[in-house]
Amino acid sequence: MIDVQNLTHRYGDRVALNRISFQVKPGEVFGLLGPNGGGKSTLFRILSTMMAPTEGRALLAGHDVMREPAQVRRHVGVVFQTQSLDKALTVEENLRAQGHLHGLSGSVLRERMARAMEQLGLADRRKDLVETLSGGLRRRVEIAKALLHKPQVLLMDEASTGLDPAARRDLSRHVETLRADDGVTILLTTHVLEEAERCDRLILLHQGNIVAQGTPGELRSSIGGDVVVLEAGDTASLAGGIEQRFGLKSKVMEGQVRVEIQNGHRFITEVVEAFPGAIESVGLHKPTLEDVFVRETGASIE
Ligand code: ADP
Ligand code: MG
Repeated sequence: MIDVQNLTHRYGDRVALNRISFQVKPGEVFGLLGPNGGGKSTLFRILSTMMAPTEGRALLAGHDVMREPAQVRRHVGVVFQTQSLDKALTVEENLRAQGHLHGLSGSVLRERMARAMEQLGLADRRKDLVETLSGGLRRRVEIAKALLHKPQVLLMDEASTGLDPAARRDLSRHVETLRADDGVTILLTTHVLEEAERCDRLILLHQGNIVAQGTPGELRSSIGGDVVVLEAGDTASLAGGIEQRFGLKSKVMEGQVRVEIQNGHRFITEVVEAFPGAIESVGLHKPTLEDVFVRETGASIE
């Protein structure tokens, strides 16, 4: 449903996307996870036909974003990072205005609006002014707006940014409904790990490069065992000591030494005994997507 082939984008000399390729199947919820500056919005602008790529190709619903932008727009709904609602209008008025832009009117428009509001849980708020709604509800109105022309693909750029965890879960639940009811294919960008965890498949994007891809489970299990995080005053010498003594490579970042290891609890005892006084605190956890990102890039996501 989405086919991205060797996409490169440069702003002047700055490479924002570096030969990116991936495919999204019909009905998938697909995530692009990466820190700020990773290139997510750049990819988003290209897929939504707002901007032409420097090189490469992208097809949505079988249409080329460069050669057939109008066809692409017909099949794609877009929710931008910045908000696009008129706050002085009601939910319903915002949707109606958008419907008119798509050339919809009369009973067809009324039915589309009713369905979109129902799917996003907005029916009882339809007469409310947008300015009176919470951040989470506003994002849901944005999504409803993007669905009025019945797109096969929905693109969302950082739709959950600024929302609290409850509102974020709520948003994910509604996105899941769209996929279940209508088989909508969803591509979302995020820098929030728990939102990424709810996607079917993911790409991790760092400085314009794909550093890993797979299901959240596959990505996590690419790290064997546990992750042990040690805090120390002198992280460099602790990391050096661990390599010498245990033959283990570790990652040093922000006052921490991270080690991937089977049976981390045993390693903790040994490492604390081996370097008396050097370690200030110790933590152990099962691998997360953040750990995958750290391993591939040495940087953190959030
Ligand atoms: P993300 O959405 O993941 O934060 P962006 O796609 O916005 O990443 O940015 C990727 C890189 O491109 C960053 O280094 C950013 O500074 C740069 N960039 C983004 N937009 C522009 C622009 N309009 N002009 C120049 N550089 C830009
Ligand atoms: Mg962005």
